[in-house]
Amino acid sequence: MSARILVVDDIEANVRLLQAKLTAEYYDVLMAYDGPSALAIAAAEQPDIVLLDVMMPGMDGFEVCRRLKEDPVTRHIPVVLVTALDGRSDRIEGLEAGADEFLTKPIDDVLLFARVRSLTRLKLVIDELRQREESGRRMGVIAGAASRLGGTGGRILIVDDNERQSQRVAAELGVDHRPVVETDPEKALATARGPVDIVIVNAAARNFDGLRFCANLRSDEVSRHLPVLVIVDPDDRPRLVKALEIGVNDILTRPIDPQELSARARTQIKRKRYTDFLRQNLDHSLELAVTDQLTGLHNRRYMEGQLGALAKRASMGGDPVAALMIDIDHFKKINDSFGHDVGDEVLREFAVRLASNVRAVDLPCRYGGEEFTVIMPDTQIEDAERIAERIRLHVAGSPFRVAGGSELLTVTISVGVAATIGVTDTPETLLKRADSAVYEAKHAGRNRVISKAA
Ligand code: GH3
Ligand code: MG
Ligand code: MG
Repeated sequence: MSARILVVDDIEANVRLLQAKLTAEYYDVLMAYDGPSALAIAAAEQPDIVLLDVMMPGMDGFEVCRRLKEDPVTRHIPVVLVTALDGRSDRIEGLEAGADEFLTKPIDDVLLFARVRSLTRLKLVIDELRQREESGRRMGVIAGAASRLGGTGGRILIVDDNERQSQRVAAELGVDHRPVVETDPEKALATARGPVDIVIVNAAARNFDGLRFCANLRSDEVSRHLPVLVIVDPDDRPRLVKALEIGVNDILTRPIDPQELSARARTQIKRKRYTDFLRQNLDHSLELAVTDQLTGLHNRRYMEGQLGALAKRASMGGDPVAALMIDIDHFKKINDSFGHDVGDEVLREFAVRLASNVRAVDLPCRYGGEEFTVIMPDTQIEDAERIAERIRLHVAGSPFRVAGGSELLTVTISVGVAATIGVTDTPETLLKRADSAVYEAKHAGRNRVISKAA
């Protein structure tokens, strides 16, 4: 999983070192040597992560971070502050400036890549969400959901048999979240299948294998998506590396820094909520993407996908597919005489009549405006003509009741029919024949069905 990372440090050697490490892991690296140019590059280049040194002359890292987080153009980009080794007060100021993560100098490679990976994952879902929100706003659905997905009030499961440590972690996280402690791994697995936002595991538990527990979480269908944060000793390199291999989301080294603990928990909870939100919305947005909002019929995009598959099968010797192209006659007059809203009512009523007069296997769609199509799998042209005629009669035969029942309108349609003929037909040629048949029907006086065999 690659990402673009902006490295900011006033000391060129530091920038070069990080650049070398990150490039070796196939990350794209952008560089800046002072605050103002970091801000400019972040806004223009939209990196996925900013690695930001705190100590810089002029505008320091805190100020850069604050400004990044204030600007709507850069606010969503995760910022990792690089602080001095004993930088406890730096961290507090960094959190207040809106930093998402911390690394201490000298930078430990394993931790560097753990942080970068964790933030890249977060950034991926944030980007996706932002994109969905953007298109959602354009279509007039889903408003401002991202802003509700904060990083507090999380349900945290702490799996640890070291009572002193787990109590401290629970107390610290209890300020913003709802932590529960579990000392038995079996019970913890069961709890993790319920409503939980993050699991914090002691990798060096006395009475159970913490990493095995993490692996079990990952292999369980229900709990596999949960973010897992593991507590390890910084000297226990094998376990630290193993934890990352198993796919835990983040690492917390002892002695646990309370601020760091909160920052990491918050990052993971946020990511979990974004991901949950995306999953919940997936079905809904898929539905939106293939449905015409006015009539509830499938839209043109969906129709084209289906027709593409059917036509391809037909061209390879499979069943023939037929298409109806339907255009409402003098629809503009309806709009002009009764208004656009009545026009919409007619379209909706027509869609109901259309859908109730085709077979279950047929696919009625709104092609656009007052034009509709019906795709008919496994259908010869004669059968398609019969169905078209039935629809035409059903529309012209009884007037449309509109405007709250105060108006009765006689509506007619012109229908073009075509069916695939062997290997020569593509969706485009098929629809084109149906369309030219509509054109002929209009010229022949409307309210009729014309079919074009070839
Ligand atoms: P013809 O018999 O030749 O098809 O005439 P027509 O008036 O039906 O065809 P024309 O293409 O001239 O006009 C179609 C009209 O449909 C124009 C457009 O404003 C209207 N229209 C397109 N989409 C909608 C819609 O969603 N709602 C409403 N109310 N009108 C629409
Ligand atoms: Mg038209
Ligand atoms: Mg028309």
